[in-house]
Amino acid sequence: MAAAAAASAAASSFPSSFPPPSPTSWPEPLYCLGPDHARERLQDDAVKTVTSVEQTRVEDKIEEVFSAYRINHHVPRLILQREKHFHYLKRGLRQLTDAYECLDASRPWLCYWILHSLELLDEPLPESVASDVCQFLDRCQSPNGGFGGGPGQQPHLAPTYAAVNALCIIGTQEAFDIIDREKLLRYLYSLKQQDGSFIMHIGGEVDVRSAYCAASVASLTNIITPTLFEGTAEWIARCQNWEGGIGGVPGMEAHGGYTFCGLAALVILKKECSLNLKCLLQWVTSRQMRFEGGFQGRCNKLVDGCYSFWQAGLLPLLHRALHAQGDPALSMSRWMFHQQALQEYILLCCQCPAGGLLDKPGKSRDFYHTCYCLSGLSIAQHFGSGDILRDVVLGVPENRLHPTHPVYNIGPDKVVHAVMHFLKKPVPHLEEAATATAKNVTAAN
Ligand SMILES: [Zn+2]
Repeated sequence: MAAAAAASAAASSFPSSFPPPSPTSWPEPLYCLGPDHARERLQDDAVKTVTSVEQTRVEDKIEEVFSAYRINHHVPRLILQREKHFHYLKRGLRQLTDAYECLDASRPWLCYWILHSLELLDEPLPESVASDVCQFLDRCQSPNGGFGGGPGQQPHLAPTYAAVNALCIIGTQEAFDIIDREKLLRYLYSLKQQDGSFIMHIGGEVDVRSAYCAASVASLTNIITPTLFEGTAEWIARCQNWEGGIGGVPGMEAHGGYTFCGLAALVILKKECSLNLKCLLQWVTSRQMRFEGGFQGRCNKLVDGCYSFWQAGLLPLLHRALHAQGDPALSMSRWMFHQQALQEYILLCCQCPAGGLLDKPGKSRDFYHTCYCLSGLSIAQHFGSGDILRDVVLGVPENRLHPTHPVYNIGPDKVVHAVMHFLKKPVPHLEEAATATAKNVTAAN
C-alpha cells in the first residue's frame, strides 16, 4: 500500500484535494487573430538595438503566418498533423540523415525524444522495435554504471537520464532489467561534490542539469540513499538569482532549461520551499511572449518552441508547490500561463508541413524540438491530473495528446509503472553511502 501511495504521489502534478473545475470553452476567434493583437508587438521607442531588430524580424515572420491563416480559414480549426509527425518519428527510429552526425554522443537522447513523442501521440511501439531500442541502450551502458552517448562512450549524466526515461517509457521487464541499479548508484556517488552539486561526468562541469538528471534517475529506479542528495537542495537554491529564475550555477543568468531542472529536482527531493516561489512565478510568466504566444528561454531572447516545455512545464510544478503552501489565489481550472496562446503558437508556427516540429518559422525540424513542442502542447492541453484532469484542447478534438508527467516528462502512467516496479527491489547498499554518512557524522561532531 505504501508503494502504491508513493507511486501515485509521484505521478500526480498536484494534490487531489482540488474541487472539480467548472467547464469552460475557448473564446473565439483565436487569440492571435483578435483585433487588438497587433498592439502586443514590441515597442522599441524608436531606439533600435541588435535584439530589438531581431525581435521585430521574428514578429514580422509570425505575423505573416497568422495573416495567412486568417485569409485561408474562415472557420478557425487548428489541426495537429498527427500522421505526418508519426511518420517522421517512425523513420527516425531506424534511419537518420547525415545532419545527425553531430549528435553521435547523444544517441540515447534520440531514443528518448522519439519514444516520448510517440507516446504523446498515443502511437504504440511495436514489440520488436521496443526490444531493439532496449538492446541498443544496453550497449550504451558503461561497465562502471551510467550510460554513455553511444556504445563504448564514457558515461555521462545527460544520456543516463535519457536512457532511463526511454527504458521507463518502454516499461517491459526487458527494459527494466537493463538498468544496473547498484552500478548506477555507485556512478552517481562518483559525481557528487562536497557542496551538494554533481558534475555531469568524470572530469566534467557542474551545473543544475546534473542535479536534476541524478534525482530523476535515482527516484525512478529507487536508489536514493539518505546521503546521496545531502546538500543538493541548498546548492540548487543558491542558483536562483535576483531575476527569480535559476541559472546553471550560483550567480549565473536565469535560464528556462536550468530553471526547469532546478525546480523539478527540488520537487523530487521535496524541497521546493527552498526557493522563492513567487519570484520564480513572476520570472517564468514574464517569459511567455505577448505577440508570439510561445516562450523565450531568457530575458530579451527570441521565442523558441522547445521552451514550450522547459518554461510552461514549470507552471504545474509551481501550482502544486503553491497549493501545498495553501495559497488561496490559485485557479482550480487553469495553469498560470496563457494556455490558448501557447497552443496557437505550436500549432500554427512550429509544425513542419512534412512532419516534425521546430523552434520558430524558418527553422528546420528536428527530434529535440518535436519532443519538447509536443510536451509543451500536452502541458497546455491538460490541467491537473488523475480524477480532476481538465482538458482544454484547442482546434479539433483529435489534437488531444497523452498527458505528460511534469517532473519526468514521460507519461504519468509510465512513471507509476516504473516506480511500482523498482519499489519492490531494495535500495542497493554501498560502501560509498556508508562512508559519506560516517564523514558527515564526524563533521557534525
Ligand atoms: Zn529550441
